[in-house]
Amino acid sequence: MISVAEALKLISNVQVQLSTETVNLSHAHNKVLAEQIVAPINLPPFDQSAMDGYAVCGIQSTYNVVGEIAAGITDEMTLNEGEAIRIFTGGAVPKNSTAVIMQEKTQALENNILQVDELVKSGQNIRPTGEQLVIGTNIFNKGHVINPATVGLLSNLGFSNVEVIKTPKINIIVTGNELVKPGTRDLKYGEIFESNSVMLESAILSKNFECSSPIQVEDNLDNTTEQIKQAFESHNVLIISGGISVGDYDYVKKALELNGVKEIFYKVKQKPGKPLFFGKKDNKFVFALPGNPAAALTCFYIYVLPLLKRLSGLNSFESISSLAPITKDYNRKSGRAVFLKARMDQGSVEILEGQSSAMLHSYALANGLAFLDENIESIKKGDKIKFYPL
Ligand code: AMP
Ligand code: MG
Repeated sequence: MISVAEALKLISNVQVQLSTETVNLSHAHNKVLAEQIVAPINLPPFDQSAMDGYAVCGIQSTYNVVGEIAAGITDEMTLNEGEAIRIFTGGAVPKNSTAVIMQEKTQALENNILQVDELVKSGQNIRPTGEQLVIGTNIFNKGHVINPATVGLLSNLGFSNVEVIKTPKINIIVTGNELVKPGTRDLKYGEIFESNSVMLESAILSKNFECSSPIQVEDNLDNTTEQIKQAFESHNVLIISGGISVGDYDYVKKALELNGVKEIFYKVKQKPGKPLFFGKKDNKFVFALPGNPAAALTCFYIYVLPLLKRLSGLNSFESISSLAPITKDYNRKSGRAVFLKARMDQGSVEILEGQSSAMLHSYALANGLAFLDENIESIKKGDKIKFYPL
């Protein structure tokens, strides 16, 4: 059995092959750029008025008003000394303009004569061509994570598509004869409502990934093997829940072997989630998580998520933790490392009641996981504990 640190290392050292795709900007949010972006045009592309007012030529107290330019007017105009033209924000400033004066600093026109309240300063209220970006400037390197402002800027520059790293295609498979999908029928004695498929799906969505509709399979070797085979055909990450322990009806490990999955590790010295399995087949990955819901979710956050981030091309994929004081003494019972459902409030970490790997209520009220390594027996009130916010 390996330690938590060893398991995390094996995941971050595994070779991944990234592929790219071209997506419309409207679907690019949160994806990682796979190309370097160079400005194809100047921004702004022409000298632009930053105000509603008048473009003027020369520095004087009155001008002759010779016309009007609204935003979007494409005529190229030129002013002569002593002339002004009515202009609006975004309008193309005529050649030879000295400045734009805000309309609030002018008097009402009389006989097309503009009188200004103060003399203009050269360049005032003009956004010069290329002020934001000059054509040819390198603006984003490969690896930049696309956010709404990136999308806006690329659109400003005339892009409609970008080349990004393909995000992983994920399929969840849940196993267990006792599981009933909520909304399909009532429970019989000995059955429970299934939670892990919708829970893991929601965890995946909450981290901005996508997944196909989860699949449920009975505890039977042939079906489990077949479902894994089918899932591999169109996905590169399988997340399996349950059936990975040592019970007589746990068929996942055998089914993975039959599908040619190579084990990278099986069993981690931790609580919850001891029977965690991680394996690889060609360029595809499998996590088999324990079926107990809280264990499955913790394994997702701690182990699956960093791999999903790497597979999306993110350079910073490791989970961020901080150290914070604990509100009560805590004594570890098992000889394994523990992940504890916890709440951080005003900088202190409270370990919640209900730590069993079967219990989700405490998890739903938690805002993070506290972590105690296998070599730390107990921790006193006020001592610092590692905390992973969720
Ligand atoms: P297993 O890992 O298959 O041995 O399951 C461990 C425990 O988790 C058992 O009590 C199962 O009934 C429960 N369990 C397994 N899968 C699910 C699931 N998808 N939803 C809710 N509980 C589950
Ligand atoms: Mg089971």
